Amino acid sequence: MVCGLGPAGRALTHRALAHGLSVIAIDPRPERAWTATYGGWADELPGWLDPGVVAARVDRPVAWGTRRFEIDRGYAVFDSEGLRRGLRIDGAQVIADRVVEVGGSKGAQWARLSSGEKVTAGRVIDARGLTRSPERAEQTAFGVVVPESAWDEPLFMDWRDDYDAPAEAPPSFLYAIPLSNNRFLLEETCLAGRPALSPTTLRDRLHRRLRNRGLTLSGDEPTETVRFPLEGGRPGPRRFGALGGMLHPATGYSVTRSLCAADDFVLGQPESPARTRAVHLLRELGLRVLLDLPPTDLPAFFDAFFALPAPRQRAYLSGATDLTGTAVAMTSLFATLPWTLRRRLLTAAMGLSGMNRTGS
Ligand SMILES: Cc1cc2nc3c(=O)[nH]c(=O)nc-3n(C[C@H](O)[C@H](O)[C@H](O)COP(=O)(O)OP(=O)(O)OC[C@H]3O[C@@H](n4cnc5c(N)ncnc54)[C@H](O)[C@@H]3O)c2cc1C
Repeated sequence: MVCGLGPAGRALTHRALAHGLSVIAIDPRPERAWTATYGGWADELPGWLDPGVVAARVDRPVAWGTRRFEIDRGYAVFDSEGLRRGLRIDGAQVIADRVVEVGGSKGAQWARLSSGEKVTAGRVIDARGLTRSPERAEQTAFGVVVPESAWDEPLFMDWRDDYDAPAEAPPSFLYAIPLSNNRFLLEETCLAGRPALSPTTLRDRLHRRLRNRGLTLSGDEPTETVRFPLEGGRPGPRRFGALGGMLHPATGYSVTRSLCAADDFVLGQPESPARTRAVHLLRELGLRVLLDLPPTDLPAFFDAFFALPAPRQRAYLSGATDLTGTAVAMTSLFATLPWTLRRRLLTAAMGLSGMNRTGS
């Protein structure tokens, strides 16, 4: 049984069916359309995924801290509704209801629904996603869709501060990705905040930044607003997707990771639990550092990150079990930072500053 039919639960249901299992899938709105624009690293896409669900690819996305980097790693942008439809779940018994509790022991598990019904299965996987809470750091963004004639440079992250905000204000970055039908999504993003910058603040920054780069928006462009929690996931054999710690706490990416992990999870061979938990803890430390770093230090921090060799970047950003790779990436990053920044990072990592970056 799979509780929740977001990207993670739907991928899991799809793959369980492909492996010949019978599946009950429960979600209050199982056929809800996916309107968010999902992207992720192209090398994380599993071989079984229909390539037709990818709307656009970028071979070498550009990142800016204080200087320009080309990332030697392909990036894929989904046609999100195409992805949802491509993860076919015909053959599953779909129940449109809310799960209020899950429980049971090995081989005899159950989910209680809001209707009062108790549904049992040999295995119950909770993929109900993360809920928002003031204690949880969030990622927020505000984006507009423009024609390719107005913008054509893909940007994974652009931390330049040409959005006319005070230097001490929490920073945000520009994310610019191609979509289908010769369009671009330009999104001003607050990577992590507790609370995160509001979509209105991000909208104003986006307008100012684009104006400074010669693009004045009409205000009639289609928009996208992003807000989701970065914290609260915990790896475990009965949890999958963001709830199961598959969301990278310091970047917010989870969709490609859940797709990638679905087969092993279905086959009962989840990624090594102890190492997965340790890697997750290290990445949570990365989030704490990001939340505590003074805003003015972030571009230099990302300069150091994007200057790391691609395999080190990949070890920190992707996969779930490479504890050595994650630790080496973090220590290599630390070693290349200026001393002042290293001192601040140590303070943040030890939780001594007590100062969380806040938005408005
Ligand atoms: C606009 C936007 C853009 C984003 N862009 C990206 C991106 O580019 N790349 C990326 O990796 N991530 C992106 N994210 C984040 C991404 O959406 C989430 O991390 C991802 O959806 C998590 O997937 P999930 O299936 O684990 O959980 P969710 O997507 O939260 O899905 C949970 C599912 O469980 C169901 N559910 C909830 N409660 C219950 C219940 N009680 N009983 C039964 N079912 C329940 C919900 O209806 C939902 O279908 C974006 C988010 C937004 C909002």
